[in-house]
This record gives sequence, C-alpha cells and structure tokens, in this order.
Amino acid sequence: MSTFFHPTLSCPSCGSPFTKPIIKGLHVTRLPEVRAAILRGEFQRYACEACGAAIRVERTDTVYTDFNLGHYIAVDSRHAPDWRASKARHTRVFDEAFTLGPGVAQELAEGMRHRLVFGVLSLREKLLAWDNDLDDLVLEATKADALRARGFSVSEEELRLSVVVPDGPLIFMRLAPPSPAPSGPDGVTLLPAPTLRGHMIVSRGQYRERLRHRREILGELPWLGDDWVIDLLVTHPSRTPVTDDGLQPEI
Ligand SMILES: [Zn+2]
Repeated sequence: MSTFFHPTLSCPSCGSPFTKPIIKGLHVTRLPEVRAAILRGEFQRYACEACGAAIRVERTDTVYTDFNLGHYIAVDSRHAPDWRASKARHTRVFDEAFTLGPGVAQELAEGMRHRLVFGVLSLREKLLAWDNDLDDLVLEATKADALRARGFSVSEEELRLSVVVPDGPLIFMRLAPPSPAPSGPDGVTLLPAPTLRGHMIVSRGQYRERLRHRREILGELPWLGDDWVIDLLVTHPSRTPVTDDGLQPEI
C-alpha cells in the first residue's frame, strides 16, 4: 500500500506548479522520522523553487498515531473554516476505526489520548507539550494570561509553543490568527507559511501557578472544555460557525 500521493498544486505566491510527495497517514510507530521532522518544524514546509516563498502544505484529513505512546491526533488544516464541522468529520473516522470496531480496537481506543488540532504547528505543539509533561489545558490557560498581560484579547494573536526549556520558561511563537481558506483537490492546499510576529516567554512559575488551580480554568475559560479540541484560539466564541454560503452568521 502506497503511503504517499502526489497532488497537483501551485505556489500561492507565484503560481508555479508544485509537486512534493504528500504522506497519507502520520503513523509514527512505523515512521519515526516523520515525528522528528514535525518536532524540527520542517514537516510539510517548503521553499518554492521558482520564487523562494515559504509554503506550508495544509490538509483537511490527516491522522497522527503513535501506538507506543498512546496518541491519536486528528489533524485538519490551520485554515479550516469551522472547527465544529471538522470535529464531526474526524470523530466519525475515529469511531468507525476504534469505538465501533472489534473488541481489540475498542480496548486500544480506551488507552489512547485523542485530540483534534489545526495545522502542523499545532500538532507540533501537542507533541512538544506531552514530551515535556505539560498539561495542554493548563498550557492554553497560560497563553490567555500572557495575551491579556500584553493587552491582547485571546482571539487577536495565535500563540504556538516554540521551545520548552527543561524546568525553565516556555517560549511561544506569536503569529497572526489564520483566516479561513478553502482546501484544494484531495483536501490538500498550499498556503504561505504563517508570518512570525515575534516570541513571547512564559515563566515556569506562571505555568505552575495555573496548574495548582487547574480546576478553576474551565469556570473562567469554558470554551477550553471540548473533549477533542483543547485550543484557546480555535474554540474561542469569536470563531462562529460558517454557513453553507461561506458567510459568518449574525449573532
Ligand atoms: Zn513561488
């Protein structure tokens, strides 16, 4: 069975044809080099051979699995228009594969931590957090604190974990929030890599303080309570569902 496919794509900056092998499923128990590339920040990131633009491949239907560590992470495009629709699609795949599968699959599912993330940087963030024994709910709450301290609302800037210093600070990338974009053939699209605005540092003490009061987080930030999507920006109430005609409904 082929692990790769080769969709026809074009550079979002200059329109030049673009062909790179795109991997179908991120099953890192068999492909440890994929996990390493994600953590290096190099996975599905390219420079256009014609104009040099930094490009990221975005996909709507990837699944990352690590059976050794018990991780199941559904990965959608960073530019998916409606996280609720994505969740319905991805949880159906999970249920069909595991929850409704034979007994052995059900047992496997019970031991797995599952998430849905949007974009490779968000996938990288979950892996980095879990590798460093960070609680992702607490991590999202520390992002809210850091944004507010700088006078930002939580939907104004996208923060993604960049570096975790052992027993030291957490360093985040500061990015402009993604805007919705349609996906191309086979759910694959090429988009400019997000522009880095700078970095933000959160001390380990700030993280530990939030961890000590973990139970209070959902009272304050209730939209972090989803069972699949634990992401301050994605499930924020400002991310209203998109209607069939692509317009934001009035609320
Ligand atoms: Zn180009």
